[in-house]
Amino acid sequence: MGNGLSYWKCNTCGTTATYQGLCRDCTTYDSERNIIEPTSRIRINKDGTQHVKNTQRPIMPFGERDGFRKQKKLTKKQTKAMEEHISKFRPTKDGEVALLGESDDEEE
Ligand SMILES: [Zn+2]
Repeated sequence: MGNGLSYWKCNTCGTTATYQGLCRDCTTYDSERNIIEPTSRIRINKDGTQHVKNTQRPIMPFGERDGFRKQKKLTKKQTKAMEEHISKFRPTKDGEVALLGESDDEEE
């Protein structure tokens, strides 16, 4: 936390804010202020482009359109495919890719 301001944008109406949360204009409430249909802001960079979480991952050309939202946990098969994909861009010294942690394929 705390390296400058974060910016958040509602993709529906395009307004930005410096805090996360639901867009008041686009979130639907009922008469008792219960949320019916929440509209969350997404994090953006200062220049207005969508912010991508800054992990150790190198740039991943595939799945950048809508992959990030759905990508919660990869299956082992997907992980392996991704490692192979990444290794084409950033091979390590001994040819192993260790970005995604130790393989635990053996432990079942
Ligand atoms: Zn909005």
